Amino acid sequence: MPGRNFVILGSGDIGMIMARRLTLEGAKVEQVLEVMPYLTGLTRNYVQCLMDFGIPLHLSHTVNRIIGNRRVEAVESVQVDERWQPVPGTARIVPCDTLLLSVGLIPENELSRKAGVKIDPITAGPWVDDGFETNVPGVFAAGNVVHVYDLVDWVTEAGYAAGKSAARFALREREKERRHIPMIAGQNVRYIVPQEIDKENLKDGDIRLQLRVTQPLEELVWIEVSDGENSITRKGAPYARPGEIITLSIPQRAYDQVAKAGQLRVDVTKR
Ligand SMILES: Cc1cc2nc3c(=O)[nH]c(=O)nc-3n(C[C@H](O)[C@H](O)[C@H](O)COP(=O)(O)OP(=O)(O)OC[C@H]3O[C@@H](n4cnc5c(N)ncnc54)[C@H](O)[C@@H]3O)c2cc1C
Repeated sequence: MPGRNFVILGSGDIGMIMARRLTLEGAKVEQVLEVMPYLTGLTRNYVQCLMDFGIPLHLSHTVNRIIGNRRVEAVESVQVDERWQPVPGTARIVPCDTLLLSVGLIPENELSRKAGVKIDPITAGPWVDDGFETNVPGVFAAGNVVHVYDLVDWVTEAGYAAGKSAARFALREREKERRHIPMIAGQNVRYIVPQEIDKENLKDGDIRLQLRVTQPLEELVWIEVSDGENSITRKGAPYARPGEIITLSIPQRAYDQVAKAGQLRVDVTKR
């Protein structure tokens, strides 16, 4: 055990899972601090890892100062405003012997960069089409290397799609010249994977889109795909949260409309 009394910075899934694990190992997790005004991991993990163990979560809070010389003795927590600036008068000393930083996973793409693969600055992973092919013909990417997934089931599904697409490439079952339709992140959408649709893939099966929202909407929402003017497909959801990946399929029956579109746009709006 690296310590006995912890403060955890970051409310992502790993920070929350670590809070539970440390508690089960006999440590005391004093609190979890999150700079954003909302949870950044899954609600399920908040309930099962923090609430069930009575660990407090402080949103819009960060660590201002670490106190101690040879060893951490305390941290100074502070509330922040919407521009992440400390709110005067909110600083509190929290005694602890360890500060655990859990402030975000980034896809590891050293090999992809070396291969000349185009990287999306938002996901920090390769720019892929719906067959998970990158801009370098014959290089495919799927899983946490593309974007950080919350659930392994989606990674499995992406792996199957990438494998199918790579097999088609190996069998030369596709046009040399690729024609892509770009996906545009519209209202309240931070990013979409895939970043583009290969027109050649508009043959069989639905096209699966995955996205994260920028801001939480704690009310009924529409997640809608359009060509910029006309709706192509949409689905309702009870809420939209940045910590939870939203999945949406474009059904095969919409392929004619998709094929004619210059671009596809996704918006997440109040219902
Ligand atoms: C702490 C944590 C808890 C999670 N809990 C859950 C959960 O409870 N339920 C759930 O559904 N999902 C969970 N997830 C999410 C899920 O585990 C991931 O989304 C999933 O494992 C990603 O699969 P992957 O194959 O893309 O990557 P990984 O599982 O990370 O596999 C990548 C593999 O590639 C290897 N590798 C990397 N670079 C190279 C290289 N250059 N050469 C050769 N090999 C290389 C790595 O060693 C690793 O074995 C969790 C994730 C984390 C981090």
